[in-house]
Amino acid sequence: MATLEINYNNLRENAKQLLKSGKQIIAVVKNNAYNMDLVDSIKAFYSVGIDYFATTNIKEAILIRETLGQEVNIFLLNATTEFNVVKKYNIEINIPSLKYLQGNYNNLNDIKLHLEFAGSMRRAGARNTKEVLEIIDFCKENKLKLKAFWSHFAFADEFDGNYEKEKEVLFDTYTKAKQVYNFEVVHFQNSASYFRDDVFEEVTHIRPGILLYGAYPYNIKNNDYKIKYFVPYHSFKVIAEIVNIVNLKQGECIGYSNSFVAGNDINVAVVGIGYGDGILRSRLTGKTCLVNDKEYKILSTMMSHIVIEIDENVAIGDEVIIYSEKLPMYNYTKYCGANSEQMAVLNKNSLEVKKVGI
Ligand SMILES: *Cc1c(COP(=O)(O)O)cnc(C)c1O
Repeated sequence: MATLEINYNNLRENAKQLLKSGKQIIAVVKNNAYNMDLVDSIKAFYSVGIDYFATTNIKEAILIRETLGQEVNIFLLNATTEFNVVKKYNIEINIPSLKYLQGNYNNLNDIKLHLEFAGSMRRAGARNTKEVLEIIDFCKENKLKLKAFWSHFAFADEFDGNYEKEKEVLFDTYTKAKQVYNFEVVHFQNSASYFRDDVFEEVTHIRPGILLYGAYPYNIKNNDYKIKYFVPYHSFKVIAEIVNIVNLKQGECIGYSNSFVAGNDINVAVVGIGYGDGILRSRLTGKTCLVNDKEYKILSTMMSHIVIEIDENVAIGDEVIIYSEKLPMYNYTKYCGANSEQMAVLNKNSLEVKKVGI
């Protein structure tokens, strides 16, 4: 049976390294901690000293409070109008616009607020400096607890000049905001921004996700980065098993629709894992896996099986590694989009989940 092994010691190692950044950490644990399971992940991060968490989902925010108690800070990234719930659980919330403040300020007393600058992301937040300053004024007039200023980059993992532009706009706005208000917490940088620039002097916290889960945020072979000390400890392994070895004669195909046709007589192996287990087809087709520490080509991809090339050293029952420190998710980002896309789809209903270090 194919296994997903999640290693919480590795999450701790990543966190420990980031805690040396010189800034405090807001750990992004949205979407069930990138599918590594929220409760075990936050316990691991907390055990090494992270005490600030961000998620998009109010249920996750409540679960963090219930799991870790009153000592931690929890920031809900998405706007909410569930004011009683956020008060009860002491959850910090986002100001998505001046309009939201004007419509809801009666309910916002005692809730810690983060002012978002929309930047080029434009999912939420003040759209320009004028709106930022209006929000600050409004908070002052109504004695609201404005705690933080933050923004999220749209281009932090792009190297086309757009990131530099959005940084300039953000710093320009923040410079004007801090002239009229002293923010206790300031957070701008996701993993990619921190990795390429190191910490910004202006911030109090960095706000990484994927680095905590052990992946480089972009292709470091082609692009520069400043955080040379960081070694990603891969958060998970996916291990399958050889279920059959088949001799193919020249011209014979295997699997659906001629997906592989033998060019000459060869032995191939059928492995018990496929896209149905939540491994992206783009991770499998034409890529490789490891058997006994040696790389073999994947020839065909099905829902519950793949076919791989082998040699005489491979036998039925051998382990087949799809993801590990040696075959990390970030090697496939140029094929599969974001790292988090590969993590999000891992199917825990068909893979056997094993947890190390809880
Ligand atoms: C997901 C997310 C992050 C973390 O991004 P990574 O690229 O995984 O580091 C940070 N901030 C916000 C607002 C996010 O939505």
